[in-house]
Amino acid sequence: MKKLLFVFNPNSGKAQLKNKLMQIVQIFSEGGYDVTVYPTKAAMDGYNYIIENGLSHDVIVCSGGDGTLNETVGAVLHLDERIPIGYIPSGTTNDFARSLGIPKDMIEAAKVIVKGRTFNCDIGMVDGQRSFNYVAAFGAFTEVSYNTPQQLKNVLGHQAYIIEAAKQFMTLKPCYVRVKSDIKNVEGNFVYGMVSNTKSVGGMKFLVGGSTDLQDGLFEVTLIREIKNPMDLQQLVNAFMTQKFDETDMVCSFKTNHVEFESPNEIAWTLDGEFGGSLKKTVFDVMPKAVDFIVRGKKKKS
Ligand SMILES: [Mg+2]
Repeated sequence: MKKLLFVFNPNSGKAQLKNKLMQIVQIFSEGGYDVTVYPTKAAMDGYNYIIENGLSHDVIVCSGGDGTLNETVGAVLHLDERIPIGYIPSGTTNDFARSLGIPKDMIEAAKVIVKGRTFNCDIGMVDGQRSFNYVAAFGAFTEVSYNTPQQLKNVLGHQAYIIEAAKQFMTLKPCYVRVKSDIKNVEGNFVYGMVSNTKSVGGMKFLVGGSTDLQDGLFEVTLIREIKNPMDLQQLVNAFMTQKFDETDMVCSFKTNHVEFESPNEIAWTLDGEFGGSLKKTVFDVMPKAVDFIVRGKKKKS
């Protein structure tokens, strides 16, 4: 019998999973799996459990927010076998699940894991040590706006929402950063910077310029310069509205598989939305098609 390991964070997303746990396990069981269930007790508990017990399984499923998925992918990357990962999102924004086309309904997501196909996805690596699935970012904006976007969007409408979001960048303290890559070298005062492989961040699609391919071996680098006057702000709003980042000096955006950030001061990074350390120098690399996520679609016959 095929073996499925189901690791979940019981405290994620207002504990919605509790009501659906039985149904989800049943879907796995009816899908022909022998199911092992492991509720995590603390941060890194899921990571350690998978490192120790993951190998003997055919599928590793996790449920929780960004942090849980980050731990799961980080652990699976360390296993000697390439084991497909299923994800049942239970966080609030779920940018990455949406980018992968994984349903936000937990029951539907469980069905995808049983019936779906594998998708070879690029994964980001920080300083050759820590992985991130879809976004590494600096700038306090990460905390401020990630929490409220949908509500704000509903109240204000798209254009007003973008203006509101752009204004938030004004409140941030700029950091002097030198950014080096094969594609582009830039330096200056930036209020926000991110290395991402997702269609949205914090529910904000406008923050990622152009098209995104999750398996092209490239991540998008997006940098927002210090906003010094109303004209700068206007330019930033226009760039977000039109998505033409190359027509403004306020946003610097490019795709690369390797980028280095250096600053005279420590920069606080978030990785997949969680604190990732304060560093003066950080190196990001893309690991092309490093993991297999189970996504919607027909299984290939093997
Ligand atoms: Mg990409």
